[in-house]
Amino acid sequence: MSVRVRFAPSPTGHLHVGNVRTALFNYLFAGSKGGTFVLRIEDTDLERSTAASEQLIYEDLKWLGLKWDEGEGAGGEYGPYLQTGRFQLYNEATAKLLKERKAYYCFCTKEELDAEREKALKENRLQIYNGKCRRLNDEEVERRINNGENPAVRFHSSKPYALVRDLIHGDITFPSNAFGDFIIVRPDGVPVYNYAVVVDDALMKITHVIRGDDHLPNTPKHTLLFEALGYEPPLFAHIPMILGPDRSKLSKRHGNTSIEQFRAQGYLPEAMINFMALLSWSDTGEQEIFSMEKLIERFSLDRVSSSAAVFDFEKLKWMNGLYIRAAGIDEITALAVPFIIAAGQTDSDFVKNNAGLMSDIVASVRDNFETVSDAPRYTAVYFSPLPEFDDETKEILALSTTRPVLESFLKRLDGKDRLSADEYKELMKEVQKDTGVKGKPLYMGVRAGVTGRTKGPELDRFVPLMPAEKLRERIEQVLSSV
Ligand code: GLU
Repeated sequence: MSVRVRFAPSPTGHLHVGNVRTALFNYLFAGSKGGTFVLRIEDTDLERSTAASEQLIYEDLKWLGLKWDEGEGAGGEYGPYLQTGRFQLYNEATAKLLKERKAYYCFCTKEELDAEREKALKENRLQIYNGKCRRLNDEEVERRINNGENPAVRFHSSKPYALVRDLIHGDITFPSNAFGDFIIVRPDGVPVYNYAVVVDDALMKITHVIRGDDHLPNTPKHTLLFEALGYEPPLFAHIPMILGPDRSKLSKRHGNTSIEQFRAQGYLPEAMINFMALLSWSDTGEQEIFSMEKLIERFSLDRVSSSAAVFDFEKLKWMNGLYIRAAGIDEITALAVPFIIAAGQTDSDFVKNNAGLMSDIVASVRDNFETVSDAPRYTAVYFSPLPEFDDETKEILALSTTRPVLESFLKRLDGKDRLSADEYKELMKEVQKDTGVKGKPLYMGVRAGVTGRTKGPELDRFVPLMPAEKLRERIEQVLSSV
């Protein structure tokens, strides 16, 4: 039987890293088995779900490269792929359960149920529905429905135990008296999550349910429902939570957790994927850097650990830096330019007219980036006015050799528009000849003069990317300030 898995987000905003790791493990598992990755939108929570959020999910998944084989925009034989389009299917399943007496109508009011809950709380026991409506006969039910009452539908939980076969946690037996007869369809006709998810997974022929282990307590209800509906339950793989660096459940408190914010901060999708794949999964060896293709080749549920993973923001940054250095320069430039413009260093007209120059500038500094949003910090040396000199720069400027070096450099710039790398090297030789200064005092002097800093891109890359006039202005400014 071919593997079919699904990612089933609720459309309530951008995906966060927890959802994405779930989507990724499903995607990798499907890929590794030549299976099918289904995207189902769980939008039955009508108050919280929005069509706009649904689009955000599609965008986030596309950005990450997690392409779904079935679902909105991809087609498939098991649609609709939005739960709100599937009410007919839920109704059919409910009718079958009612007919077979595996479910029943429940007319108990909210007040009655609340009172029961309170009583149970006082007596320090779990609140289990008392089964009152299970005993109603068909005529009574019909009469009350005809009278305009809106009943809920409850599952008749008749088995003492539910077995969950989990590939990560092993087989787990849950006593079903922990939950009793639970509601599957609310009085307004909307199926609850625990029910819709089972009808969908059954009809969509899902073979493996891979999801966060926060859903594990729900799963015994699911296996009972699968059986009641006449289906073999799928295999489950409940993947452990993601913790923040302080080992409490990862949340906004720890920093950014929305995939969109990572994108906006200049993280690359390939780095996000690689990093998230390693949250509770590891390969057999020491290797940590994996392309998507490699992950698909190497991924297996056997190597997903049952213990929680810690989201190490520093490691993600480090990994992102690796991917930035390995990426094509055109891609990095395109991503960096908006940050450089937003920092006020240049504008879109300049960028449009100087595409080659922009990518040379970015290329000269990108090895320093951890995220693309770091770009302006390193491109400032090209665009911004000279900074206030720090102590190291002041030290260099105070050397007796620096002024003659800069004066000679300035003189030799005369009449030039822009130096090539070779011309720059030639010019440095001449400055050395003029002044007798060489080595560090020569290069640091020039660096301080043309950048106002002691660190930055290599001068033979930097100088050719600057108009000679700008270099002159800067040197004059530096000379007049010391
Ligand atoms: N809509 C549920 C969620 O986002 C899906 C859970 C499941 O995969 O069954 O948590």
